Amino acid sequence: MSTTIPAYHPVSAPDYLPRKQMRELQTARLKRMVERAYTVELYRNRMNEKGVTPADIQSIDDISKLPFTMKNDLRDTYPYGLFASPMNEIVRLHASSGTTGKPIVVAYTKEDLDVWDEVVARALVGYGVTEKDIVQVAYGYGLFTGGLGLHGGASRLGCTVVPISGGNTERQIMLMRDFNVTCCGCTPSYFVHIIDKALQMGVNMRDLPIKFGAFGAEPWSEEVRAYIEEQAGIKAFNIYGLSEICGPGVGAECCFQDGMHIFEDHFYPEIIDPATGEVLPDGTEGELVLSTLSKDAMPMLRYRTRDITTIDVEPCKCGRTIRRIRPIRRRSDDMLIIRGVNVFPSQIETGILRVDGASPHFQIVLETGADGLDRIEVKVEATPDALDDTVASVEQFKKSIAQSISQIIGLSVKITLVQPYTIARSEGKMNRVVDNRKK
Ligand code: ADP
Ligand code: ZN
Repeated sequence: MSTTIPAYHPVSAPDYLPRKQMRELQTARLKRMVERAYTVELYRNRMNEKGVTPADIQSIDDISKLPFTMKNDLRDTYPYGLFASPMNEIVRLHASSGTTGKPIVVAYTKEDLDVWDEVVARALVGYGVTEKDIVQVAYGYGLFTGGLGLHGGASRLGCTVVPISGGNTERQIMLMRDFNVTCCGCTPSYFVHIIDKALQMGVNMRDLPIKFGAFGAEPWSEEVRAYIEEQAGIKAFNIYGLSEICGPGVGAECCFQDGMHIFEDHFYPEIIDPATGEVLPDGTEGELVLSTLSKDAMPMLRYRTRDITTIDVEPCKCGRTIRRIRPIRRRSDDMLIIRGVNVFPSQIETGILRVDGASPHFQIVLETGADGLDRIEVKVEATPDALDDTVASVEQFKKSIAQSISQIIGLSVKITLVQPYTIARSEGKMNRVVDNRKK
């Protein structure tokens, strides 16, 4: 499919600001943000401990003088302790999906919701979505930011929105077909499930008018992208975000699918060494730290995302001047330490999908062997077309997957093929790891 640069849309104007102007805007907004944050006890105490006052922040580069904020700070101030607006100005609360522990609460003023809608609209414009598109929002609605986030952005752009939320996959496919949906947003793992279900129902997704996917909320590999694009005949775009900053729309790919542009006029990115907290130069891999530049209800100063990526300063072919981050394949807290080796589920996914005919449905099971060492078993669903019925071909298939994974992670793994559709599907974020190791 050839890549055409989507038409410029007024909502996306800040994406093209000359760098100097962007930095001036960032400086002005950061100064205001710090003043606001200083009214919040936690930030004021932290800044006082570091000997920094709002007057010390005179340029965007001074951001490194500010203290970090961590997920625990949101837990410790649960529920309303980080709000910088009075409750009568707060018009929305969300809470994180809690995949990593107790929920955390985030707040929005009316202006904050406007910014959120704007950045998601800019994400969609970058894909090439226009007001003529029909957008099926299959992210969960509710406290999770995915559903309402995409909904707001698509509405802002003037698209026709189908707010179906997650789940009831057969109905998703029926409406996708009957409503002539052209864009679908959900987690990539859920879209893989939709593809499978469509096949079972005898629907060829490639025959449907759908052409864009807005996929995010969890790491996914290039191999899954290729699988989705091939099976569904669409372009699969990445969208990134986290509740603490606003939800989806912190960054997104453009039509070139080469890293995610960060909407830098609202969210300032830095990369740090996760061990020392030292700021690393652009182009170096490390932990992404984000500061909000316009969030009134709940400013976030230097929030440590634990997502591992690199900031790319190379100009993008699309002409946007806002910087990009490389796709996030791992977060520091989904790292598995197996026999002392750091392994990420996304590496296993890549290994599996490099083998022809392998299915993207898998589960990682960790056990402690009789010798006290960790054992990795990867359960992979068999696909009908990958196998003929001979034992030799099954063994060969398993061996290819095992070798492909070992080449990436450097550890040997046991592959078990399971019947199609036996690995639990998720309508939202997928949890792929069962850790039965003796602690
Ligand atoms: P929780 O922390 O409970 O999972 P969130 O819904 O706020 O709650 O999740 C945000 C996290 O989801 C991000 O910090 C990141 O780890 C992950 N994430 C979101 N979008 C993407 C994406 N496009 N690629 C990889 N990871 C993503
Ligand atoms: Zn671009």
